[in-house]
Amino acid sequence: TGTVNYRPTRAVVDVRAIQANVRNLKKLLPVETGVIAVVKADGYGHGATESARAAFQAGAMMAAVATPDEALALRDSGIHQPILVLGPVPISFLKEAIRQDIIVTIPGVKWAQAAADELRGFEESLKTHVKIDTGMGRIGLRSEEEIVELIEILEGTSAIRVEGIFTHFATADERDTKRTEEQFEAFNRLVGCFPERPKLVHAANSAAALRFPRFALDAVRFGIGMYGIAPSEEVAQELPFQLERALQLETEIAFVKQAQGNESISYGATYQAQQGEWIATLPIGYADGLKRGLRDQQVLVRGRRVPIVGTICMDQCMVRLPEELPEGEPVVLLGKQGNEEITMEEWATRIGTIPYEIAVTIARRVQRQYF
Ligand code: PLP
Repeated sequence: TGTVNYRPTRAVVDVRAIQANVRNLKKLLPVETGVIAVVKADGYGHGATESARAAFQAGAMMAAVATPDEALALRDSGIHQPILVLGPVPISFLKEAIRQDIIVTIPGVKWAQAAADELRGFEESLKTHVKIDTGMGRIGLRSEEEIVELIEILEGTSAIRVEGIFTHFATADERDTKRTEEQFEAFNRLVGCFPERPKLVHAANSAAALRFPRFALDAVRFGIGMYGIAPSEEVAQELPFQLERALQLETEIAFVKQAQGNESISYGATYQAQQGEWIATLPIGYADGLKRGLRDQQVLVRGRRVPIVGTICMDQCMVRLPEELPEGEPVVLLGKQGNEEITMEEWATRIGTIPYEIAVTIARRVQRQYF
């Protein structure tokens, strides 16, 4: 980005890593299988436009987002390739979706009827993908009967065009693959209930695409893996190629002091620095995504792990240095420095969540820098 950053805290995103992940996935999949780049939630915190652009440069066929606003933001920033909204959209969005050439998801029969009513007499048609719920239990049609009802509605309108059909796996990242296989079978059976096979039939998320290339169908929806993060420990252990991490969270030491006698550090005075300890203040806190629960996490300084000490504040936190270091010294919170690396998985394990949540928790005010 061209804007000045007066704060050294930044998320540095390597778009070549995103490209490499997309290219390597494409090599793994049958040549006819397309890659849909999932860039919802601001590209899992990496920046939606830049991530989509990188993915398209590497051969992705489509971008997918969760909400109408995310789709419109991509269009506004000059992305002209196909965009699919995965989540349910309000009927009030449909005419705008047509104007902006955005593909929306049909989440169920009632929605389809409402859409047909809304677009009655409309000249152009809405591009859609039909969602099938084969076990995720979130959105989608669940039976042959529902599909028959949908087809009746579609036959009564020329304003809705079905270009795709898809489902979503609930447990593709788990060791036991039985459910995923059952979902895949159920999906194929329900796809067969359509009078004509839609152009783009897709099911796999990152975990399924990486583990079961035979489930690739016409396209895979590549999210977390595109950013170089494995969907789970299980998938990490059996990756068909090395994923390249795209994001590094960095800052610089803002302030350094040496404890004189016992000095307490931060809110609650829960840490007592001993005489002589070097304490550095970093300009990053929980409002940046360094969650308060990460108080026992380490950061990297000069290639070494140093501990956060005391409560993490909203905008700052303190670390204990092994020796005096200058203000302006580079600090890595997520990523590599020297031979050490701190991953989103490490943070996630520490606070009992998944790396997905860590990625999307890096706040907007942390400037993204691309190279
Ligand atoms: N497809 C749908 C419908 C999703 O909701 C998501 C994300 O949760 C994805 C694909 C991408 O999943 P992943 O990030 O695990 O690749």
